[in-house]
Amino acid sequence: MKMVYSHENLFLVTNAKNIIESTGIETFLKNEFAQGAVGEASAFDCWPEIWVLDDNDYDKAKSAIEASQKSANMVDWICNKCLEKNDASFEICWQCSEEQG
Ligand SMILES: [Zn+2]
Repeated sequence: MKMVYSHENLFLVTNAKNIIESTGIETFLKNEFAQGAVGEASAFDCWPEIWVLDDNDYDKAKSAIEASQKSANMVDWICNKCLEKNDASFEICWQCSEEQG
């Protein structure tokens, strides 16, 4: 098994998992329910992770995620004005209404 993707945001991880599985690759979600433990020890260790069962699927899974992130621009962004972190689905900053850029 190999880990292909990890992010602190479970929504993004679940989304990536769906994308990988849509290409016919079997995946396994780790730390899905570990969010409550964040704050103790290392938060990074508790991020949800996607693993592929078959190592041979690793490259295919990786490129599926990358392709989808490019097309959908599914990455969080930081506001230029107030430096607040915004979800990928927002086009303007939720805090100060500055446009993404
Ligand atoms: Zn802002």
